[in-house]
Order: sequence, then C-alpha cells, then structure tokens
Amino acid sequence: MSSAFQKSYTCSCGEGLEVTLWQSVNTGDPELCRQLLDGRLNVVFCKKCQRAVFIPVPLLYNDMERGFMIWIYDSRFSENPIRQMAYEPERIRIAYRFSKRLTGIKARAVDGFGWALEALRRIDDPRMLNRIREKHPHWPESKLWLEAFRRHYKAVRRSGWDRDRLWR
Ligand SMILES: [Zn+2]
Repeated sequence: MSSAFQKSYTCSCGEGLEVTLWQSVNTGDPELCRQLLDGRLNVVFCKKCQRAVFIPVPLLYNDMERGFMIWIYDSRFSENPIRQMAYEPERIRIAYRFSKRLTGIKARAVDGFGWALEALRRIDDPRMLNRIREKHPHWPESKLWLEAFRRHYKAVRRSGWDRDRLWR
C-alpha cells in the first residue's frame, strides 16, 4: 500500500522537473524501505545543476510486521499530518478502514526526517527492547515497538544529530 504522486518541482537553479514523490511506504515493499532508510527516497537529481535535493513531503512509514505507523514530516515545511487529518474527512475514512483491518495499530507523528530515519535504523537494538519489555510485560508488541522508536527518536534528537542528515 505504498503510494506516490507526481509533482512539478522547480530546482533552485530554475530548471523545471517532473518528480515522483512517495507519501507512504510500507514494509511490504523492502526496496522502498531500503531507499528510505538510506536517505535516497524523495531525493530528486537535477541534471542541469548536478545537485541532489531531498523534498520533504510528509511520509507515512507503515511497519506491518511490527504493527506501528510513523508519520514523518518537517515542521518547517508542513503541518502535523495527524492533526491535518482531522480536517479532511476522506483521510479519516481511510485511516478508520485501516485501523479496523489491522487492530492494535499505533500511529505517531514526528517532525524531523533525519532524526526519524536514524531512530528507525536503531529500532532493533535488543537492549532497548528488553528494557521496555521488562518494565511493561503486558504491552502488546506494536506498543513496544512504537515506544522503542519514540525513545530512540528522543535520544537521537538530544544527541545533536542533524535533523537534515539523511545519510549515515
Ligand atoms: Zn538544478
């Protein structure tokens, strides 16, 4: 259920580009997930000025195996997508159908791509997972994973990691 849209984009050099931008990425599409985690997703290359530019459209990362969703956006360019949904009936319907099908799914919005990608790269850290499991033995797996993401995200943010740093 990954999805993309086409958009006209003007590079800072003035060149007009037709670009394909992903707005949701699902772990059922491993190649797209790899591109996201490597910082290659939604990066547009301009042949005229030879520059690669990341376009920060809000993106839903949907981890079907672990049962959580992360809305990643950049607060300098967009509003919180979850808050925005409240004003868009169509998107509420989609989210509702989605949550009915996959019960127990947890969603969260975070406002930095670099921080979010680094947190997702670290999410399998067994020490963090075990610490949460020990403290909250009754939590469902999806909540455990989302909490692990949240803690990694906070740690990365505090560590001074650049919010624009997509590549390792
Ligand atoms: Zn250019």
